[in-house]
Amino acid sequence: MILPIYAYGQPVLKKVAEPIAADYPDLAQFIADMWETMEEANGVGLAAPQVGRSIRLFVVDSGPMQDEGKEGEGIRQVFINAEIIEEAGADCSYAEGCLSIPDITGDVVRPEQVTIEYEDEHFVTHTSTFTGMNARVVQHEYDHIEGILFTEHLKPLKKRLVKRKLEKIRRGDIELKYRMKFVR
Ligand SMILES: [Zn+2]
Repeated sequence: MILPIYAYGQPVLKKVAEPIAADYPDLAQFIADMWETMEEANGVGLAAPQVGRSIRLFVVDSGPMQDEGKEGEGIRQVFINAEIIEEAGADCSYAEGCLSIPDITGDVVRPEQVTIEYEDEHFVTHTSTFTGMNARVVQHEYDHIEGILFTEHLKPLKKRLVKRKLEKIRRGDIELKYRMKFVR
């Protein structure tokens, strides 16, 4: 089932999300809905708060973000109860976007490598290190479960430039490409 994506301005996007246990109700269906919703919106990642649930769960499919011919280097993974262990490497700048903040992109600086501990959909614990685009998407989605949006990382001048556009998104005064839920 395709879920509506909560737009900028929704309070759930600003909450630190809660961990979940393996007996979380209808988890397999929820994960299937997350994939379906992300794919319908042509996203490369989606976090549970973006569909209105303040839980520490996100999905990533970074294949489409890899350079041509290197799509196989992407990851397709469910991350549950993730905690970043370490970020390392040089700071990299990349123009990010977000399904909750349509039609806005902006350069965000992040370390090029991230080590993260998480559980998969079977609640098996993993510790993985990601670099490049995989790290970028994981860091962006991880921010969502910490209640942080990429626009908060923009430089002050860029923040001022997108302010009016953000207010329009908050009000729902935008052209919809997929189902969204606004605060109004
Ligand atoms: Zn996002």
